[in-house]
Amino acid sequence: MKPHDGLYIDGAWRPALGTHAVEVIDPADEQVIGRVPAAGAADVDAAVQAARAALPGWAATPPAERAARLAALRDALAAREDEFTETVTAELGAPAPFARAVHVGLPLAVAASYAELAAAHPFEERVGNSTVLHEPVGVVGAITPWNYPLHQIVAKVAPALAAGCAIVLKPAEDTPLTAQLFAEAVHDAGLPAGVFNLVTGLGTEAGRALAGHPDIDMVSFTGSTAVGREIGAAAGAGVKRVALELGGKSANVILPSADLAKAVAVGVANVMANSGQTCSAWTRMLVHRDRYEEAVGLAAEAAAKYGDRIGPVVSARQHARVRGHIERGVAEGARLVAGGAETPRQKGYFVSPTVFADVTPGMTIAQEEIFGPVLCVLPYEDEEDALRIADGTVYGLAGAVWAGTAEEAAAFARRMRTGQVDINGGRFNPLAPFGGYKQSGVGRELGAHGLAEYLQTKSLQF
Ligand code: NAD
Repeated sequence: MKPHDGLYIDGAWRPALGTHAVEVIDPADEQVIGRVPAAGAADVDAAVQAARAALPGWAATPPAERAARLAALRDALAAREDEFTETVTAELGAPAPFARAVHVGLPLAVAASYAELAAAHPFEERVGNSTVLHEPVGVVGAITPWNYPLHQIVAKVAPALAAGCAIVLKPAEDTPLTAQLFAEAVHDAGLPAGVFNLVTGLGTEAGRALAGHPDIDMVSFTGSTAVGREIGAAAGAGVKRVALELGGKSANVILPSADLAKAVAVGVANVMANSGQTCSAWTRMLVHRDRYEEAVGLAAEAAAKYGDRIGPVVSARQHARVRGHIERGVAEGARLVAGGAETPRQKGYFVSPTVFADVTPGMTIAQEEIFGPVLCVLPYEDEEDALRIADGTVYGLAGAVWAGTAEEAAAFARRMRTGQVDINGGRFNPLAPFGGYKQSGVGRELGAHGLAEYLQTKSLQF
């Protein structure tokens, strides 16, 4: 697609008030593929005012009509499947088959789910002598990251629209073209002007102006824990609702009774998908001491098979960051059994699929989110030790447990302090609540729980 040189505000593409632009780079060959406006505080204010003006009409629209608009949005997204696939591949670097199946396929499912939930949700309930109304929270400022650019947008915009909220979106500066394409789909779906607005630009300017804007009722943020903390503090000062989806360092716990070969193969694939840029990735594999060397061998072999078939990481900054973590792992004494910090290609931000063995729970690579194709394999002595290691980081976003039976794995999973656990390779469910314990976040996205985030209650007594 040809990038828009404007911001999508009040149902139309308008020039930004300033002249700053953000360059979009293809991480596979480091070429500039487009420029989008970098919105300033005055642009953000115009978008918020447009949302404020549109809110009463949209909030009063019957849920069935909101559901029809969401169904139209889903269709408009589906009509652009090829364009989305190409755009995500170009600005994120995801290989095209993965971009089509996951980066585009998942948001289509999520948009469809909110078309249904908007129609079916009980927006009113009786509690004794009260009627409880579930009303939209108001104008939402949504700030999204680049790692799943379309999914992160749809996971906020679709439930907010279903709830009757108006939105201003500030997408990640690395992947704004996907966001522009999304705005085109919103336009085609016939949403009333001002209900959805897009301001591209930098986090420290447009993002900060949006998060701190006094006329926003809620901030929904997905990104790093450091920025989430700042946004949470600003929301607290303004007494605003806040939802935070942050980082993770999830554990893949392989109990002694598990099918080791399967658990390791799925575990490695989980980490390498999207070049490791998945907040819920199982980046720590925990294996019983007795089967540890066998697991390390299998993991190294599986990682080596990927070669450079995984795409690049998103940017020069991430490239340097991920390679820095690999160097740190070596310096701290972890054993490199696949990959390493050397760049496998002359051009592009590629990182070799990397596996570390002999990782101890206190090492930086076992504690900090790397956000690249890097797996740490840690041994444990017994189940209590495995639980201590699994829960022994500041994060609690996801995880996996493998055992001879689903019951045994689920019994372990019930004890973990984390928001999502896949049992013996259970599939991702786009209707199940997604979100973090501890410093992985506040609130939940997806399904009915994700819709509830954008509602507030009013009780009428009779
Ligand atoms: P980031 O926190 O730097 O940026 C995320 C978004 O916030 C971007 O749109 C950015 O422009 C904006 N932003 C940056 N500084 C801001 C500020 N001071 N005020 C307001 N907005 C600001 O993160 P990133 O580098 O884009 O994404 C990678 C991180 O996000 C990883 O740590 C990853 O784990 C996390 N993440 C979490 C989830 C989840 O669902 N929990 C999903 C994706 C990514």
